Amino acid sequence: MTDRPAWQEGKEVDDYNVRQEASLELVKLHANMLKRMPVIQAFLILSFWLLISSSISARQFLAWGTLSFSVECLRAYYGAQALKVTEFSLASREHRRFTLLATLAGGAISVSAILFLPVITVDQRAAVGFLLTGIPAAGVAVSQASRYIIGGYALGILVPASLAWGQVYPDQAYGMFGLAIVYSLVLMAVAADNEKMVFRSIAIRHERDRVVLELEKSNAEVREAMSKAERSAQARARVLAAASHDLRQPLQALSVYSAILAANPTPQTLTEVGHDIDQIVRSLGSLLGGLLDLSRLSSDYYVPEKQVCSLDKIVNGVCSELQTMAGEKGLELQRFLAPVALRTDAVALGRIARNLIENAIKYTDAGAVTVQTSSAGGMAILTVRDTGKGIPDAEQVRIFEEFYQVDNPGRDRSLGVGLGLAIVQRLSELLNGKIVLESAPGQGSSFSISFPDVIQDDARLAPVAPTAQSGSFAGIKVFLIDDEIDIVKSMSKLLMLWGMTVHAAESASTLAQHFHARGKPDLLIADLRLGKGEHGAALARQFRFQYGDFPVLIITGETASPVAPWPNTPTS
Ligand code: ADP
Repeated sequence: MTDRPAWQEGKEVDDYNVRQEASLELVKLHANMLKRMPVIQAFLILSFWLLISSSISARQFLAWGTLSFSVECLRAYYGAQALKVTEFSLASREHRRFTLLATLAGGAISVSAILFLPVITVDQRAAVGFLLTGIPAAGVAVSQASRYIIGGYALGILVPASLAWGQVYPDQAYGMFGLAIVYSLVLMAVAADNEKMVFRSIAIRHERDRVVLELEKSNAEVREAMSKAERSAQARARVLAAASHDLRQPLQALSVYSAILAANPTPQTLTEVGHDIDQIVRSLGSLLGGLLDLSRLSSDYYVPEKQVCSLDKIVNGVCSELQTMAGEKGLELQRFLAPVALRTDAVALGRIARNLIENAIKYTDAGAVTVQTSSAGGMAILTVRDTGKGIPDAEQVRIFEEFYQVDNPGRDRSLGVGLGLAIVQRLSELLNGKIVLESAPGQGSSFSISFPDVIQDDARLAPVAPTAQSGSFAGIKVFLIDDEIDIVKSMSKLLMLWGMTVHAAESASTLAQHFHARGKPDLLIADLRLGKGEHGAALARQFRFQYGDFPVLIITGETASPVAPWPNTPTS
């Protein structure tokens, strides 16, 4: 690679364009000069008259002068016409015309030699000779770097003039003719050099324009990147401010509750405190889950796993899960689920549907929530409609911001954390979805998202994951491994409370002992990142290899792991 300009490289990048432009430029320069040619020609004719008037017929001279002047006027006329031409493609036509006219003009001048050389004195012949050889040299300037125009002009003058000279001085005939040809070729070579200069200067102009364009483009890119960085810094600051407030509040409440627990509360208080702590921990969990999801979605960690899936089945599953929530509020959860298959990330799709339907139930006090799936114009459409309180126009953009809630100035956590729609928006962007919101205060809301990549043939649909079977956990043999002692203790207690037989381990070696002593478990629960560089998923794979297949549940607080063997999924 080199950074030398294109014209120095002789590249043919836009060689064609440069040539076209150079050709038009040349024609215009020449046309511009032609405007003055009648005046110059008049001086020339006058010079001839002064030099040879004593020896020639005035009538003959007048005829020649008129001819020669008329040809220059013709050239000036076409020159003026050519100045109006703007199309590159017409340049070569004009160029050909000017070459022809230059040859004609040269020929008209040479008529003077044919008419007057035989009748004028020796001194006058010398003077006319000088004039006739000088005129083509001046013509180089007029031709403006066209070797064809100057060639036509010079040959038009010199060939007939040398022949006329040869008639007067036969012994000089060949020499004069040869000289005329050589002289014309030299003038053409000079013009060719000038032509190259014009070409070069236009190539440089092209190169400069290209560089300026590239600079402007990269400046715009830098500006865009800077404003994106600024926007994301502002968003991060806003998220951090809201998150620190929303995290501190429940933590402070928890510390108060722990003081109450330490002060031997009555069984009644104990039940109440237990319930409150459960609420706080749930809301903290959803806040943390939301934050982790957002951070992952913002930092491009989440890569959508596209697979063929069924929108209606996914939405149906979410509706079934939220049926109880709607029932508790006395709302009807209506489903109109037309079968729609598309290629997309099923987990993200489910998350979007869940957030929208949950919101619809949360913000509706009476009436119904209607969930609809359909397809139109190659797009899969999910619509969630409610008869709730609606959203004012002015808030309809802001509700997609992180932590923005319409009616929760006191940030009551039971009303949500304000991350649901921000997550919906990011996930929908990842899936190339388009959100349309229609809502008015008191008239309910309708969130509609359309996704691309609908497929007609749904025969290849991924099998629907079996729904969890409810039943007793009694007697289930569970191996649990986590390097956090608090998690091992609390999880073991909970699992045992549910009737399971738990064998806990804090390291891979203890877990190996359990396997050795008890064979494979009914379920292995493993932390993803264990201490000492050990990895829960890798361990599970190793024991499966040794002891045969068994179910594994991986738990993790990470948003992404480079060695995670399962597809990445939003954490909550
Ligand atoms: P959260 O529901 O946790 O407050 P969201 O990001 O899901 O956070 O929603 C942001 C805000 O948008 C909510 O606080 C609520 O005011 C408004 N909103 C969302 N969905 C609806 C809906 N279906 N009807 C009325 N308002 C809604």
